[in-house]
Amino acid sequence: SKKHKVTVIGSGNWGTAISKILAENCRERNDIFHETVEMWVFEEKLEVPKNSMHYKSSEPVCQGQHNLTDIINALNENVKYLPGVALPKNIHANPSLEDAVRDSTILIFNVPHQFIIRICDQLQGKILPYARGISCIKGVDVEEEGVSLFSETIGKKLGIYCGSLSGANIANEVAKELWCETTIGYDPPHLDSKAPTPAGGSPSQSQVDLVSFEHKDSSGQYSKVKLRPLPTDYPPIDHALWWTLFHRPYFHVRVVSDVAGVALGGALKNIIAVAAGFVDGMGWGDNAKAAVMRVGLLEMVKFGTQFFGNSIETKTFTEESAGVADLITSCSGGRNFRCAKLSVQRGAPIEEIEKQELNGQKLQGTLTAADINKFLKKQGAEKDYPLFTAVHRILKGEMSVEDIPSHIEPKL
Ligand code: NAD
Ligand code: 13P
Repeated sequence: SKKHKVTVIGSGNWGTAISKILAENCRERNDIFHETVEMWVFEEKLEVPKNSMHYKSSEPVCQGQHNLTDIINALNENVKYLPGVALPKNIHANPSLEDAVRDSTILIFNVPHQFIIRICDQLQGKILPYARGISCIKGVDVEEEGVSLFSETIGKKLGIYCGSLSGANIANEVAKELWCETTIGYDPPHLDSKAPTPAGGSPSQSQVDLVSFEHKDSSGQYSKVKLRPLPTDYPPIDHALWWTLFHRPYFHVRVVSDVAGVALGGALKNIIAVAAGFVDGMGWGDNAKAAVMRVGLLEMVKFGTQFFGNSIETKTFTEESAGVADLITSCSGGRNFRCAKLSVQRGAPIEEIEKQELNGQKLQGTLTAADINKFLKKQGAEKDYPLFTAVHRILKGEMSVEDIPSHIEPKL
């Protein structure tokens, strides 16, 4: 049977760490996957820092400025976004989006959420129509019509089915192979028995007809969607295949059907991590931090129930790595937490701290706080989510961190 080709779209801190995991599994399971994993890189020029793990004065890429892709391919290290980690040689860093996704049946989306819409626009018409995706992105897509999850936005824009992956996964720890867990949500449409199926058992890409599926989206509506079925000469893309592709002895995968819960948990916890950083920056101690985590978790559950109630299982937030475990790790050592804490300690805007401290890595919590607030305002529901609202107002300079306790104070 045919082998799946895997492409990771993104090569930041998490994009590179996930590429490492996938490359290890594709090498071990080269009976079902192509060994080479394509990793799309947003190209930039830089000098290899002299203290880089693989710096060799004799290497041409170590003299002067070079493309990041050339540096990664020569040194097997992403010296900018995941320094100090040896990458498998079967990762191919590719600056061309179109070339990186060519013939790939499996697309893993892993970029900061502010860049994904433009990337999807560029990918339209360039991917295999029967490819399947997983979004590792933590964020929400807020537009006029409401809030949707990037797994859905990607699926709609590209005409494919896309699940989600999220968990307590600080990338630098995962890349060092320190044990952790993650959650994959995948629930593709079921074949509508009344819809016409393509003629022949194993249709080639050009012969295959669109097939209608019945699908429940995150608003709980059943709708007919048109999807290309995967040709039958490929191993089926199902829960078992995702497990085989992502699971490592140090990266334990649970696959569930609650795609929306997985994606939403990863987005909302970033707002709470900013709040945790704020109160820690004030020096208020662990009790205060635990209090914002408690209130934040309840707001996550409430938001999921109120706006995605027909499709989400709130137990994803309380039982899965994508929920409470991610909240805990993010409020301990995540970038959103660390930058929010420094912004209070130094009395500087968080955007300034992000630029000074993260060397090009991006925060998601600040943008997500604004996105969620825009949506809540429209729903007239700001007051029902006092912590989410407080974080947004503090970031906008409309409220101070000192006001958090009174803002979330329970009333008799
Ligand atoms: P990152 O924060 O390291 O972001 C930098 C990346 O953005 C780089 O690859 C850079 O080249 C790219 N970039 C910059 N400008 C761009 C542009 N105009 N267009 C496209 N790309 C551009 O990235 P990351 O940590 O890999 O984050 C990706 C997603 O993974 C985020 O949603 C994040 O929340 C999530 N995530 C991160 C971690 C983590 O620990 N880093 C863990 C789990 C999930
Ligand atoms: P930060 O983006 O705040 O570092 O969070 C990383 C993360 O999502 C850990 O699971």
